[in-house]
Amino acid sequence: MSSSLYEAIETASPEHIKREKAKARELRNSSWWKQQIGKGICYHCEQKFSRDELTMDHLIPLSRGGTSSKKNIVVACKPCNSLKKNLTVADLRLRELKSGETK
Ligand SMILES: [Zn+2]
Repeated sequence: MSSSLYEAIETASPEHIKREKAKARELRNSSWWKQQIGKGICYHCEQKFSRDELTMDHLIPLSRGGTSSKKNIVVACKPCNSLKKNLTVADLRLRELKSGETK
């Protein structure tokens, strides 16, 4: 499975992605993550969802050098998560700036 658009903006090495994906899997089993998903709120649209509608989202995608740290991982609903995959790098930058402002 590979989307050419995604590959075009890819900057991280496959080793990095593999390592961080493994970390994400571990975090998904942690009590911290269960707490996050237990709130049931999507980080991006702030709507309430049932647990099976929520996914783990990396603010900075692993493919762009992001890591699976608690700072970089948020709860996202499926619509937001798939929307984000279609955003350009510039859009993502904007979103990162915005999320900084609301803190
Ligand atoms: Zn959402």
